[in-house]
Amino acid sequence: MPDYDTQTLRDWDRRHIWHPFTQMKEWEESEPVVIVEGEGSWIIDSEGKRYLDGVAAIWTNVHGHCRREINEALKAQVDRLEHSTLLGLTNDRAVVLAKRLAEIAPPGLCKVFYSDNGSTAVEVGVKMAFQFWRHEGKPEKSRFISFTSAYHGDTLGAVSVGGIDLFHGVFRPLLFPTIQAPAPYCYRCPMGRDTPAACGMECLTELERIMESHAGEVAGLVIEPLVQGAGGMIVQPEGFLKGVRELCDRHDILMIADEVAVGFGRTGAMFACGREGITPDIMALSKGITAGYMPLAATLATQRVYDAFLGEYREMKTFFHGHTFTGNPLGCAVALASLDLFESDRLLGKLPNKIKLLQEKLKGLIELEHVGDVRQCGMIAAVELVRDRATKEPFDWEERVGVRVCLEARTHGVFLRPLGNVIVIFPPLAITAEEIDFLVDGLEKSIHTVTGG
Ligand code: PMP
Repeated sequence: MPDYDTQTLRDWDRRHIWHPFTQMKEWEESEPVVIVEGEGSWIIDSEGKRYLDGVAAIWTNVHGHCRREINEALKAQVDRLEHSTLLGLTNDRAVVLAKRLAEIAPPGLCKVFYSDNGSTAVEVGVKMAFQFWRHEGKPEKSRFISFTSAYHGDTLGAVSVGGIDLFHGVFRPLLFPTIQAPAPYCYRCPMGRDTPAACGMECLTELERIMESHAGEVAGLVIEPLVQGAGGMIVQPEGFLKGVRELCDRHDILMIADEVAVGFGRTGAMFACGREGITPDIMALSKGITAGYMPLAATLATQRVYDAFLGEYREMKTFFHGHTFTGNPLGCAVALASLDLFESDRLLGKLPNKIKLLQEKLKGLIELEHVGDVRQCGMIAAVELVRDRATKEPFDWEERVGVRVCLEARTHGVFLRPLGNVIVIFPPLAITAEEIDFLVDGLEKSIHTVTGG
């Protein structure tokens, strides 16, 4: 139990914590829920109220909260070694984890560069790709292709390759310019093809046109494979990712796959790239890498990328980048315990059933008057609320319909977070069939109450 009562904790929070992505004026007027415990798919507040964690602790949790096996691995590691640097040394946990990541990653990604969050994992990938072409004697290949509605994190490099104006617009003067390609958003197709039957993947044709018009200038392309997360859980049409890989090959552009949100089983396969049988040149991992326990990230690269950095000391081909907590043994021990659980729980084998259950259950939502789109990829789902289904007219953002639905869901024991008018469903992969029912039932009632339809 917490050392302080709920009111004291709320007061101190309002006085001292500056919350991320939060209008603090509103927060200060609110009564924050104080989470003090976790158990399986549930989080428990200081008053003992339980909430089904519908966002998996912001898209990280895999095996449930407080899994005994991971807790034990962490306790054992902390009694052996809490941290030691990878600058000038190595450590056993980081070594073993790197080997195991290389074994499960799309074939060819054999080098692991550690950092400690998703933004840095992407930032490392972008810097690697940039420097790679310098060593290849093609410094003119220095620009990046990014996608509309992309999100890759909040450090400036990661923001530069982002595409969500609401988050990124204010920082524009600080960013490096990128070449932006239209991301497929099938419900609101940027190419005006509003039915799946009419889709000729013109977004790929447009991407090819962009690559041709910037021939020889592009170092890398950054993509969230299969699903754009923070953009609204926008699911790409089948074959898009593979098409992007082929175009990158044709134009000799390094493909940087940001699997920070979709990696580690989330889409039904260990990695989203695996679902389309592709290997990116660089792959960013974080979040699920430690099953939601610890800050840890890894940027994986192919031998080709790595080899370009080899040379005599005086050639200055070193990758001058590194973080204090790179390869942290606690994080790596937890990540290893998580990979063990993937095997002993046979988690990937159980996912197809859960994915189907979720899909069946979501069918009920599409009947609701203000549900415009229900989309799903593996254990990620999203419900896009609209004022008018016929015209797809969105609710005004000032109405904060998504926020209101999520607040209502709390009264049904479900914790959710919206992305604008999109309600995200992203539970721990260990969620049970009964819990899937509970989650979607709570959401359905909440949409009904808030939108009246
Ligand atoms: N990439 C993607 C696809 C993400 O969804 C996120 C975080 N939501 C990040 C990068 C950034 O990760 P972090 O918040 O750990 O910096």
